[in-house]
Amino acid sequence: MKQFLKNFIILVIVLLVLAGVVSSFQINKPKNENVNYTTLVSQISEGKVKKIDILGDRAAVTLNDGTEEIVLKENQDSLSTTLKNFGVGPEELKKIPIEVKNDRGASYWVGTLLPFLLPILFVGLLLWFMARQVSGANARALGFGQSTARETKPEEGPKVTFADVAGMKESKQELEEVVEFLKNPKRFTEMGAKIPKGVLLMGPPGSGKTLLARAVAGQAGVPFLHMSGSEFVEMFVGVGASRVRSLFQRAKKIAPAIVFIDEIDAVGRRRGAGLGGSHDEREQTLNQILVEMDGFEPNSGVIVISATNRPDVLDPALLRPGRFDRRVTIILPDINEREEILKIHAKNKPLAEEVSLRVIAERTPGFSGADLANLLNEASILAVRREKTQVATDEILESIEKVLLGPERRSHVISEKERRITAYHEAGHALVSHALPRTDPIRKLSIISRGHAGGYTLKMPTEDKHFHTRGEMREDIAMALGGYVAEISVFGADELSTGPSSDLRMATKLARQYVMDFGMSDVLAPRTYGEHEEMIFLGREITEQRDYSEKMAERIDAEIEKLVSEARAEAARIVKDYRVGLDRLAQELLKRETLEQGEFEKIMKEEGVEKPVV
Ligand code: ADP
Ligand code: MG
Ligand code: ZN
Repeated sequence: MKQFLKNFIILVIVLLVLAGVVSSFQINKPKNENVNYTTLVSQISEGKVKKIDILGDRAAVTLNDGTEEIVLKENQDSLSTTLKNFGVGPEELKKIPIEVKNDRGASYWVGTLLPFLLPILFVGLLLWFMARQVSGANARALGFGQSTARETKPEEGPKVTFADVAGMKESKQELEEVVEFLKNPKRFTEMGAKIPKGVLLMGPPGSGKTLLARAVAGQAGVPFLHMSGSEFVEMFVGVGASRVRSLFQRAKKIAPAIVFIDEIDAVGRRRGAGLGGSHDEREQTLNQILVEMDGFEPNSGVIVISATNRPDVLDPALLRPGRFDRRVTIILPDINEREEILKIHAKNKPLAEEVSLRVIAERTPGFSGADLANLLNEASILAVRREKTQVATDEILESIEKVLLGPERRSHVISEKERRITAYHEAGHALVSHALPRTDPIRKLSIISRGHAGGYTLKMPTEDKHFHTRGEMREDIAMALGGYVAEISVFGADELSTGPSSDLRMATKLARQYVMDFGMSDVLAPRTYGEHEEMIFLGREITEQRDYSEKMAERIDAEIEKLVSEARAEAARIVKDYRVGLDRLAQELLKRETLEQGEFEKIMKEEGVEKPVV
């Protein structure tokens, strides 16, 4: 509509200019003075007239001094007859050359036709603009099916290369080959090797998949077409498929090139998994991707890289050889890799001398590359807020908690009673954890509210962990219940708050996994219960499918029940045995709000609570 208004204004301006031109023609014509016959006759007799041109019903008179005059003829008689009638002698008339000109020149035509043409022109222009309007909309509608991929050309901007990706040694090695393929396809084709068509990067969110794909393009120096899985799918059926087609066409034109489809699970989900809802569009899009990947020659120089954090939901057809036959799994960084990632992101930040990135890496198990980048960014922001010139360890440590638990809410006002409940709750978690041998050491506990939590108890393993043992799982359930148990035993069952609900959820989740996924129960056979399959039913995702009988379900429930009850009993025993320690911890928390690992361990030692060793 806006566009139309703009065009309309242009149209009006054009017409105004035209009208101006026309009227200037009109004004030009009677530029010369109009005189009557009497004047002309006297001028002739005075011998002033040089010549007379006859233009239709006018006579243009040129005088000897150069002035021009117009005389309007009043009848059909010729000029000479009229002049004779006015008493001009034939002698005098002979001296003046009289020329009859055809007054059908440009100005005559413009003057006659324009009044008719103008409205026609106006209507024509209007129609033309309207047609343009419509065809613009049409073009846009057609452009819908065009790929919206963003292209990064190798010569553009700062390149991302493998040097910008810390760690991931194996993944980089795997991709090094792809880079070689792109750089030097001949070497491989001469050996009869087929260049892989697709590489699938799998890994948790923030682990650097997108970064790695970019680095491959940068390293090989080829253009990079970037599109996210969700961008294929629009409201209209068929758009996704046509976008896929256009994306691959573009890629083939600029080959060698990398087509990067990020978050491919958005379109590449297992087909036919939808119940009660049509997923035609997604399936068509996926089919088109499969067709395109089959369609291009193996050595055309186009390599498709895609990334997902849900490889489990991908359609098996995507994983078949000849498509994404190279799969690169990216895992969360270990301590050394974390240190390297921190180094990369600390490059442009003024860190204080005392900051040891190794220590930060030790404190951040389970952090992804994106978390670490975010952590250092938060620390810099904090340093600016504190008007420091350098980022110190303090800021970084504080940012770790912020990244883990959300920002502190110091302004959050809570009553003295709630503070006491929170203090005992957190002390309960910490005490139970400390009295059990296999739990991770407590790093910090606090009753300052953060994010959604009223307070928090932070525990963290001393080294990177990839497994959890059965004993650890049981103890973790007990620790999760520590707050709940402490609240009841200190304030009485009726004073139990709604605070521990997320703890209970955690305990339940752990217990279910213990029994159903890890075969850790004593009495049930070591098998898994429940199929984690993606189903979409009436728009809701159902991630679990029952593959066991009703009877089995009862036994599972009983096992979970037993496990959680035992954990509660264990926590209650610890709270009862070390009640003095619990009181002391709560007191200290109320006084100091936050206890660091060292302070906490000192208090525990003083109160005779020692972490048993297994
Ligand atoms: P994903 O696509 O796996 O979700 P990204 O590739 O978008 O994750 O990573 C997000 C950010 O995290 C990157 O832009 C980068 O700053 C940082 N990052 C992740 N992994 C690394 C790494 N190995 N080295 C350096 N930076 C990393
Ligand atoms: Mg990504
Ligand atoms: Zn809790």
